[in-house]
Amino acid sequence: MEETESFRDSIATVDKQGKRNWIYAQKPSGKYYNARSILSYLYFIVFFVGPFIKINGRPLFLLNVVEGKFILFGAIFWPQDFFIFGLAMVAFILFIVLFTMAFGRLFCGWACPQTVFMEMLFRKIEYWIEGNAAAQKLLNKAPWNTEKIRKKTIKHVLFYVLSFLIANTFLAYIIGIDSLMHIIKGPVSVHAGGLATMLIFSGIFYGVFTFFREQVCTVICPYGRLQGVLLDRDSLVVAYDYERGEPRGHFKKQEEHSGGDCIDCLQCVKVCPTGIDIRNGTQLECVNCTACIDACNFMMEKTGRPLHLIRYASENGIANKQPLHFSTRYKVYSLLLITILSAISWMLISRQPVSGAVMRTAGMLYQERGMDSITNLYRIKLVNKTTGNILVSLKLEDTPGSINLLGQPVIHVKAEDQGEGTFFVVLPRKNIKDRKTILHIALYTGNKKTGSIKTTFLGPVK
Ligand code: SF4
Ligand code: SF4
Repeated sequence: MEETESFRDSIATVDKQGKRNWIYAQKPSGKYYNARSILSYLYFIVFFVGPFIKINGRPLFLLNVVEGKFILFGAIFWPQDFFIFGLAMVAFILFIVLFTMAFGRLFCGWACPQTVFMEMLFRKIEYWIEGNAAAQKLLNKAPWNTEKIRKKTIKHVLFYVLSFLIANTFLAYIIGIDSLMHIIKGPVSVHAGGLATMLIFSGIFYGVFTFFREQVCTVICPYGRLQGVLLDRDSLVVAYDYERGEPRGHFKKQEEHSGGDCIDCLQCVKVCPTGIDIRNGTQLECVNCTACIDACNFMMEKTGRPLHLIRYASENGIANKQPLHFSTRYKVYSLLLITILSAISWMLISRQPVSGAVMRTAGMLYQERGMDSITNLYRIKLVNKTTGNILVSLKLEDTPGSINLLGQPVIHVKAEDQGEGTFFVVLPRKNIKDRKTILHIALYTGNKKTGSIKTTFLGPVK
């Protein structure tokens, strides 16, 4: 059998000597590109405006890993809500598995910030300044004349400014827009560390979008690497219909066509931002950007053939003409996902506005108070998840006895902050039956019970 030229056993962007093959992707045009462009405009609006939106004075999203403070849709989460986060992470990973099994790398092509910023912002600016793929190639080969210096300067300045904006917006999602503005407006001497971080992040983004580009998807991104184990023959991917396209052959006018529909025009390869030929099947580098669908549809239309020789399809759909269906694996994962999401929803709904932890004072057992009472000394830490200051009082539940807060009648916990206190639990000696008694301490704000904490009370050995 004749060996096909397009077969490869190496990554498309690296040559046999290990040097980078720079990809000059031709500008795509077509239905899918237009749809992705519209979506990207919405994406940019949401991304850049997001940090400025506040609900009840709180940001819409805040992922402050440094302080362990997280805000989602205006609801604040602390490390004490770690359990919810753990479950959310499991649900998120399951969601990725499920989603990828069903829809392949749909996320990469339509929603991944790397693809959206690269293809819909930086690449578009590059086309605008340097022209289409062939013009860019010529410009790079040309000597450094005035025209080249002008174009390259404009491009790199614009790329750095955009990288600066993107990096700072990401930073705003981490430290909050108010802290970011504080760094920007404050004197350099006070915020030197913050400014240095901003410039370093901007430099990294500039390097990624200007030089590293598709290598992020093909070499670094772990999600891309997972595709091999997550995709199956029923997964929906951007695929070439080889049943219809082969045997491929050059299109000749007036010719009575007898082969497949692929006219070997290579337009699908020329527009590919990762430099691959989708006709070789699903490949690691394919980010499902749909540029090859548009390119091929254009050629099919021009040559009077049915569209969608390259389209969203599953391997089973192409090889066996099977309609898309849910496999057993898919159903089991879906059930798991629904269960976990329900558990998370329940935990979110039943989440108390105040939570905390009680610890018995280290090194102390129990103290006798008079002839008829035993006391234990505790320390309590409370977290206020609301936007208002609250006063918390403590009461014993289901056990006769009392609580004496030291130095204050109630614990004052500021909005979105933490408060603490020290207190004695006093129990009648006659009620202590075991060395350890389980206690439930109720938290009250006014007359309203807002939570309960379980702890143990140590008594004398009988
Ligand atoms: S093969 Fe097609 S969908 Fe995949 S990255 Fe290349 S152009 Fe995009
Ligand atoms: S664009 Fe379509 S017709 Fe042209 S080479 Fe690619 S698959 Fe074949």
